[in-house]
Amino acid sequence: MDINSIQAIDIKVIPNRANIDDLKYISTGEDAVKINREEGKIIANSFKEGKSDIYVIDGKSNVKSNVITIKVIDKKAQALKKKKQQSIKSSKKITYVYISRTGSKYHSNKYCSHMRKPDKVDMKKAKAAGYTPCKKCY
Ligand SMILES: [Zn+2]
Repeated sequence: MDINSIQAIDIKVIPNRANIDDLKYISTGEDAVKINREEGKIIANSFKEGKSDIYVIDGKSNVKSNVITIKVIDKKAQALKKKKQQSIKSSKKITYVYISRTGSKYHSNKYCSHMRKPDKVDMKKAKAAGYTPCKKCY
């Protein structure tokens, strides 16, 4: 389930004649998922990423219900994380261009315009220094 959401849980206690007031609601990962009873339904509230096993115990007979494992995922945070990783990747990618000391253009082809010993520079730096793309090779 997504973080900060509410979900009804289908949990059964066998025998189901157990007095509902004797039931204890157990969440093994209480900081991630809290369990409440609302109008006869068992409701899970998720607070943070994590895993929790949800079950019910009959306080009198110690009969345990089926166990439901809930995994809480912070979709927003994960999407952000992914985005961040992607932007790191793309910012690492450097495009090199060639500039000559006398010209005002940057080139993708170092043999363009008969340049003599052109300097290989980061395109961003060339742009920042006022160089514009060559019309022949860009
Ligand atoms: Zn060029």
